[in-house]
Amino acid sequence: MAGMSATVGAVPPGWLVDVVEEHPDFPEPGVLFRDLSPLWRSSSATSRCAMAMAQDMTDVDLVVGIESRGFLVGLPVAQRLGVGFVPMRKPGKLPGELISASYELEYGTDSLELQASAIEAGERVLLIDDVIATGGTLAAAATLVEKAGAELMGIGAVLELSALGGRRKLTEAGVDVSLVRSLWEIS
Ligand code: AMP
Repeated sequence: MAGMSATVGAVPPGWLVDVVEEHPDFPEPGVLFRDLSPLWRSSSATSRCAMAMAQDMTDVDLVVGIESRGFLVGLPVAQRLGVGFVPMRKPGKLPGELISASYELEYGTDSLELQASAIEAGERVLLIDDVIATGGTLAAAATLVEKAGAELMGIGAVLELSALGGRRKLTEAGVDVSLVRSLWEIS
């Protein structure tokens, strides 16, 4: 998209470093969980985050956020851009006619749903989540946005845990990773 860069923030802004909290062995042993609760606890950090994620996103009609932390990141971005917000949810949460995409977890599968009426064909979508880890969730979400007939203009995340290979997973799913922008790439 116009003005969108494929680069990630390898050197994070100070305001962001201050609002990411590390929790070893959560939710299970071996996982270093990055908690963004301090970010949302801070009005100024929440505003700066929305500003950074909205930057240069001039060609967007709609922000789609992935349940549930993608809602917290995405809604302020939509407000900043002056466009609407659409929640992409786990199964069984949304009423009405739905479209869905499934994806594989370590054990079993999961899926994501959108209301069929929420996105019009050809609308230009910025897809948002909080963290890119393995990339499985975003890969399914990107597939679902395209299934809805929308045009994927960008994929935004606050953090990208690059050692987990999210961009590789997205590429395998046919997603153009030049659309990905994260505020802080943690290797
Ligand atoms: P994934 O499908 O592996 O990219 O991750 C799906 C979601 O899990 C991300 O959007 C995060 O909300 C969450 N997540 C996974 N790993 C972490 C982590 N180490 N710290 C914080 N959130 C995580």
